[in-house]
Order: sequence, then C-alpha cells, then structure tokens
Amino acid sequence: MLLIKCPYCEEERPELEFRNAGEAHLVRAASIVEQSDDDFAAFLYFRQNPKGLQFERWRHIHGCGRFFNAVRDSVSDKFLTVYKADEPRPNVEQLIVRPAASAESTEEPDAKRAPRAKKAEV
Ligand SMILES: [Zn+2]
Repeated sequence: MLLIKCPYCEEERPELEFRNAGEAHLVRAASIVEQSDDDFAAFLYFRQNPKGLQFERWRHIHGCGRFFNAVRDSVSDKFLTVYKADEPRPNVEQLIVRPAASAESTEEPDAKRAPRAKKAEV
C-alpha cells in the first residue's frame, strides 16, 4: 500500500486516508465576469497531466482534513515531497536524486543509467 506523508500531521498514513484534488497551483482569474468563455473553460477543464513529475493538490480526508500539495512522479507513483498549501512550489531540480558520477567509470551514460534504474526506491 502506498504511504503518503501529511505535512500537517507529520506522519505517513495509508493512501486510503487521502483524496487527490487535482492539479496544484491553479490561479483563478481576479474576475471571472471579465474572462472570456474560452479562458474560463481552460481554467475549469484543461489540466497539464504530464507524464512524470507533476504538482498535485491532496486532502487528508480521513485525518486532519486539510489540503496540501505534493510533487508526484506519475510514472513510478512515488511522492518526491509534500508541502503545506500556503508554501511555495519547490524547486523540482533539487528534489530529483541523481546518482553520483563515478570518476573512474568509462561507461556510456545510457549504460550507467540502466542498472541504477532497476534499484527500487523506498
Ligand atoms: Zn493530516
């Protein structure tokens, strides 16, 4: 079972306690009256849905009930980090753990990447 850490409760809990609430960091228009129908439809319905890292809003619905944001890899389903809703978007480059390069290795970059990709991330 997937464990998700709530940044408010500060403990990992089973995914069944949480609900995904869609894409994080959506910005509402100051006045929807002045917004065109196409812009409003884009805000309301269209999401990025990238393959890989994405910023998501989650709610600890069977815990504290609060909303928070998370950076999750949609391919591996691994959470890179969670942060409170009022905190700024984290720098994704700092979250990605890259294996240290070996100074003596003469392997091609693709050859290096393959064995490391097989390691299970916990
Ligand atoms: Zn919580």
